[in-house]
Amino acid sequence: MHAVGKPGRVDLERIEKLKQEEDVRFVKARPRSMALLEQGRRSMPRGVPMSWMDDLWDHPPMWVAEGSGAHFTDVDGHDYLDMHIADASAFCGHAPGPLVRAVNWQIERGNQFQLPGEDAIWVAEHLARRYGLPKWQFTLSATQANTEVIRLARVATGRDIILVFDGKYHGHLPETMVVLEEGRMAPEMLGLPPWASRHARVVQFNDVSALEAALAPGDVALVITEPALTNAGIIRPEPEFHSTLRDITRATGTLLAVDETHTLISAYGGLTREWGLEPDFLTLGKSLAAGVPLATYGMTEGLARLIAPPEDAWEAAGDAVREVATGGTLFANALSMAAGKAVLGEVLTEEAFDRTTRLGHRVATGIEAAIDEASLPWSVLRLFAHSYYAFAPRPPRNAIEYRSAEVPELRALMRVYLANRGIWEGGWWRGPAVSVAHTAEDVDRYLSVLRELIAEISGVAGAVTPRFI
Ligand code: PMP
Repeated sequence: MHAVGKPGRVDLERIEKLKQEEDVRFVKARPRSMALLEQGRRSMPRGVPMSWMDDLWDHPPMWVAEGSGAHFTDVDGHDYLDMHIADASAFCGHAPGPLVRAVNWQIERGNQFQLPGEDAIWVAEHLARRYGLPKWQFTLSATQANTEVIRLARVATGRDIILVFDGKYHGHLPETMVVLEEGRMAPEMLGLPPWASRHARVVQFNDVSALEAALAPGDVALVITEPALTNAGIIRPEPEFHSTLRDITRATGTLLAVDETHTLISAYGGLTREWGLEPDFLTLGKSLAAGVPLATYGMTEGLARLIAPPEDAWEAAGDAVREVATGGTLFANALSMAAGKAVLGEVLTEEAFDRTTRLGHRVATGIEAAIDEASLPWSVLRLFAHSYYAFAPRPPRNAIEYRSAEVPELRALMRVYLANRGIWEGGWWRGPAVSVAHTAEDVDRYLSVLRELIAEISGVAGAVTPRFI
């Protein structure tokens, strides 16, 4: 499906040959990781605590010993500079001091009461100031936050349909795990109910006419989107896309949720504040408490009234069901809230974002220079702390272009090559990102290994035919 290359050239074959060499080297240098995987197979499917841990990378997983700042080590004693930052959930660096102190303090005083504590007020007030929406609720993951956002949107609008953009990811929930297959909506994976695809629409990001057509019937409850898509490389919104999206959703009575689970690493108030977006709901998670489970969704005053209706509205409803299905026993537990307070107050500061934005530019500029030096027909996308390199001369504007530019064999080779040289760049869907703990020296080390890699493969990669011009 992804075979590329001009006829008569050995590009893919050479990529695969290099990859095989790197795979052998990877396995050979990690006997302890391989033994743990083997042992794990006796008690866990595929040998890992979640099967995707053995699926997200082409090579076997290395098993982690510990992490500190921008680095972690595996059980075989290898050090890695972490450019994957756990899919944006380790943006605060590993074991940041304020988090360690807050978690220790709280765990000694009890972590789970199923009652509110004062930290919740600090965090909710802080989020309201930082992100602009007045009311907040808390879960343990962004998936759960988005699940509740969808329920609230359905109650608020009396509609069932959810619209997502191709290339999206909003968690493993049925409503958004849908794909367009030959013009028809279908579940994205096994185990997802077919009804979810009947109540979903998918359009291409940046396609205003498709969006207009999909919302025109006035039967969509919610559009949920990242400000820029970050789960299919990076797909940036074209100028005016967001303002048009907001206008069309308002005109058709459709609610708008902005999912900043990843993009919260971009700017102090997320891209919502940076770009002046006006969502009805805003989701945050992952790095919000430096990877300690905590996620949240913000909402307007009007939507908050669905959760807290005035007393007389409850009476008028008589015996009718009047509560929106939200909740989870461990949601908003004392440990998560203490972690969130420490991280928002002491780690995710305005100064931290200034620094990570500068370092992110250093990464993107360095990759551009390396690509230019090797005359590769590739392009670089910049999104503050996060960058992406696409194997096509023009940055993808939607998921179709993203997929056609991708060369999985080449991406897999690059990942294992970097891992073998102490750099972890993680899954195929993302490019490198810096954390609050990264330094300019870390970035330069990453760039010098990447340059080596590009030199090694440029004859090969240069022969890869760009899939779209
Ligand atoms: N929203 C977005 C934009 C994401 O990228 C992800 C995870 N990659 C999620 C939601 C789900 O986050 P979690 O797995 O922590 O629930």
